[in-house]
Amino acid sequence: MSQIDAHYDHAIIGSGISGLLCAAYLAKKGKKVIVLEKNHQIGGCLQVFSRDKKIFDTGVHYVGSLGKGQPLRHLFDFIGIGDLLKYQRLDMDGFDRIYFEDEQVEYKFGQGWDNFISGLSKYFPEESENLLLLLEEINRIVSLFGPYHLKELEENSVTIEILSLSAYEVISSFITSERLIAVLWGNSILYAGNKAKTPFYVFALILNSYVEGSYRLIHGGSQISKYLSMIIHDNGGLVRKYAEVTSIEIKEGKVDKVIVDQNISVNVSTCIAAIHPACVIGLLPEYSLRPSYVSRVKELQNTPAFISVYFSLKENALPYFNYNTYILKNNDAAMHPDGHFDDNWPTNMMISTGCEEHDQQYANTINVLAYCDVKIFKKWESTFNTTARHQERGQDYDQLKEELINKIAKKVASKISGFEDMYFAAYCSTPLTYRDFLNVPDGTGYGVEKDYNNALFTFISPKMKIPNLLMTGQNTDLHGVYGASISALLTLKHTSEGKLIFEEINEFLNN
Ligand SMILES: Cc1cc2nc3c(=O)[nH]c(=O)nc-3n(C[C@H](O)[C@H](O)[C@H](O)COP(=O)(O)OP(=O)(O)OC[C@H]3O[C@@H](n4cnc5c(N)ncnc54)[C@H](O)[C@@H]3O)c2cc1C
Repeated sequence: MSQIDAHYDHAIIGSGISGLLCAAYLAKKGKKVIVLEKNHQIGGCLQVFSRDKKIFDTGVHYVGSLGKGQPLRHLFDFIGIGDLLKYQRLDMDGFDRIYFEDEQVEYKFGQGWDNFISGLSKYFPEESENLLLLLEEINRIVSLFGPYHLKELEENSVTIEILSLSAYEVISSFITSERLIAVLWGNSILYAGNKAKTPFYVFALILNSYVEGSYRLIHGGSQISKYLSMIIHDNGGLVRKYAEVTSIEIKEGKVDKVIVDQNISVNVSTCIAAIHPACVIGLLPEYSLRPSYVSRVKELQNTPAFISVYFSLKENALPYFNYNTYILKNNDAAMHPDGHFDDNWPTNMMISTGCEEHDQQYANTINVLAYCDVKIFKKWESTFNTTARHQERGQDYDQLKEELINKIAKKVASKISGFEDMYFAAYCSTPLTYRDFLNVPDGTGYGVEKDYNNALFTFISPKMKIPNLLMTGQNTDLHGVYGASISALLTLKHTSEGKLIFEEINEFLNN
């Protein structure tokens, strides 16, 4: 393992996509960069694991805006990994399929807005004009968020009024059918959509990115972290695993050192924390931030936690679906992230299949994502288990996992008949798994929850009172591979090397 030096220009805490993108850019600028990652594997939510000779993604099912000419692909080209990634486009006429248990009809989302609107208009012909009007509003809002088109954010474009628009209210001001409203929220598990909180801009940016282009990463999301890490190393930087930052030392109001594993001291000129803001506060001495800031961050609500269930499929048992299926109990389930464990659970879940690159006829894995109330794991609250720090949680924990897996398998079987006989093994990541592997409070899926009722309160700036400490990642802007990547750009804007990052990207694209 490479030695950690005594001084770095930039120390990045956390090797999720945002941390790695910041590090790759700064390393390419000739800066001495280190990424410190506590886990045995880099990538954060991009991590994969392997069982039964199959690869399972822990936090990425598909990615939006990754097609040639689309913003995320442009950003990856700029940083140098675009051509290296292997991915394939999901079904053009139905990349997401929304299935309601109370109706047993599957509504398809097409890629490209024309396709999307004409697809839904087949089910709801009387709403086709309304869908076009809603699209106009989506386009208007999306166009205001310059960074999502790799452009500088124009002053006064994103106002508090824009951030305070409610997704539910805007959608229902255009659409009359309750079922169509629920269909439009159908894939809302992607952003923990909540009728009472989700801002319209979150709905618009995320739906737009997937309608623009939806892609499955072949062999999993970890290829993104692998290639970013390669760029960092090729430019003289270091990505260090098994390196937990346990504190940040402040001298004369600035970050002086980061302490790794309580004993390795690293002098840094700048520190970028690509982790949850509550965890950043936990690393700092008590006096270093204003008490009002600290209590504000502590009061922030986080998005709900998930359970992921991974099924190993028998050979040639199930055709591969080049799309995702969302199973919703009813309209309400589409708009309420409910992880409460009762007879109805889960009321909202997403199914995606995986396959071998050389055999796309049959699926070899199924991954199911569902909301899961962390409270059912209260008994194991004080345990901690990761690959780097292994601890068994005991038989009763395994039994509860088994129960949850069986419930999910039953739900999948209600959609895919005979499913029980199609798999031979199943594994799961609980909210505690996500909590421990990612260092996120209560295993939150997407970090700080955006709330249109109090838009500014839930907005976390990358800049802090400490001038050489910045934050990045899903909490400072939007979550998702796309959102966390854009957050990296917005953070880099605050470094002396990255002030002109948007100009540089556009110059690169024009050439
Ligand atoms: C179950 C699930 C499914 C998802 N599905 C999708 C999807 O299909 N498509 C999509 O686009 N997005 C999806 N997302 C969201 C997306 O993966 C994340 O929003 C994004 O990857 C977050 O990136 P990040 O850089 O903010 O941080 P993270 O990926 O959370 O990485 C943070 C890293 O920091 C490390 N760390 C924390 N504390 C310390 C410390 N003290 N010292 C050292 N290291 C530390 C952690 O170990 C971790 O590696 C999903 C997320 C989840 C949880």
